[in-house]
Amino acid sequence: MKGSDHKPDIITYAILLSACGEANRPDLGDELVNVWKQDVNVIDVKVYSSMMKMYGLTNRIQNAMAIFKELLSYGNINNLPQEEVINVHLQMIRFCSEGASIENGRFVINSAKRHNIFDNGLMITSTVSLYAKCNMQEEALAVFGQYRESKLCDVTTWNAIIQCFANKGRSDKAEEYFDEMIKKGIQPSNFTISILLNAYSHDFQVDKALSLFHNIHEFGITTDDSINGSIIDALGRSGRIQDAYEFTKSINSITSIHYQILLGSCRIHRDLDTAQQVFAKLRELDSLTSSDYVTLATILAHHGMWSEKEALMNAMAAQGLKRIPGVSHTTINNVLYTFTVSDTSHQRSEEIRQYLRSLQDRLKIKYNYNPNLACVTRFFDTRQEKEDHLWEHSEKLATGLNLISTKKGTPIIITKNLRMCEDCHASMKLICLEEEREISVRDAHRWHVFKDGKCDCDDHY
Ligand SMILES: [Zn+2]
Ligand SMILES: [Zn+2]
Repeated sequence: MKGSDHKPDIITYAILLSACGEANRPDLGDELVNVWKQDVNVIDVKVYSSMMKMYGLTNRIQNAMAIFKELLSYGNINNLPQEEVINVHLQMIRFCSEGASIENGRFVINSAKRHNIFDNGLMITSTVSLYAKCNMQEEALAVFGQYRESKLCDVTTWNAIIQCFANKGRSDKAEEYFDEMIKKGIQPSNFTISILLNAYSHDFQVDKALSLFHNIHEFGITTDDSINGSIIDALGRSGRIQDAYEFTKSINSITSIHYQILLGSCRIHRDLDTAQQVFAKLRELDSLTSSDYVTLATILAHHGMWSEKEALMNAMAAQGLKRIPGVSHTTINNVLYTFTVSDTSHQRSEEIRQYLRSLQDRLKIKYNYNPNLACVTRFFDTRQEKEDHLWEHSEKLATGLNLISTKKGTPIIITKNLRMCEDCHASMKLICLEEEREISVRDAHRWHVFKDGKCDCDDHY
């Protein structure tokens, strides 16, 4: 199109910007924004909404917020169709939830209130989810409480509040809200059942999970992939790996995800034998991902089978598979920072490393901290290199930046796309003690709040 006489119109820009976000191509997205600014540069809600989406999906929430604010400052926002204004706000709340960016999230909520679009079912549900994802149960409950008797609250709002407690491993509270929802005559969805099953699973309430599973027909629900997956997880996580395996084999519509959940349980319980069988099943299905290789490699490392682990990682590379990089986000003074493993892109990178090195030494001397080398899934020659690498995990770097740039006592909040490794989990317990900081980390599974040398997950993760 660039070389032809056809000029892209607004819809073309909107579609392409969205596509750059969905394909995670920030480079192309930025290029397109520049072309837009040179060639058109008018405030258009469709293009701006796609720009926000592109920035949000490529993890640049500050840029998305800047575009959002620019759109708001455009005086005629109230003249736009209300549906579009609502959608723009909902989109921003979703990105703020993903990044646990509460300050930005509050700004968007206040804007929705100012524009009289807050009294809307989707907005209320998104707000409850935002607070839940930011580990703010009281705020989530306050919003939910305000609307729970209103018609605006539907099954998705109840799901959001149940999820709020499920994320914290509070299956008792999740169950309480589920029971109340049933009493009110609100029909649960399959997703409601999955959330509650996951809450039981993470709380090791396997009998409750099985009991709910056997009675789901009472709620008019039939099982699906997600519910089956939750049962595998509940059995496997509690250590009943063989039962989980038998259950997996009994599923009619078995998918690779079911085996992957089982493989995850094998990792928790270091069950190498079953893990190898499950890995073979995934190979048969031609569904092996880099995460499956890394999971099996971690189990091999736990068993000290370093050469087998090395061979496996080489096999993964030969398949052209790359590990999904761990990415951690943290917001300091309203600015979002992103770290990947061994990241050196931050301008204070060397200071962060130095600080973490001295911190690691202090932890060794004062608390007998012993780096868990089984968590190293890459090849290094020396023990020192392995230890150094463990302290370059993205959540430790994000913690380091907080420690050197915020006042003592300031809580630290980090979100991470993958699960924390055991070494990071163990280190955070000591760091919060040594540095007298509360550290909250939301990993792929749940929130971990480290305080006074403990994590509120009681090491159940
Ligand atoms: Zn780690
Ligand atoms: Zn924890």
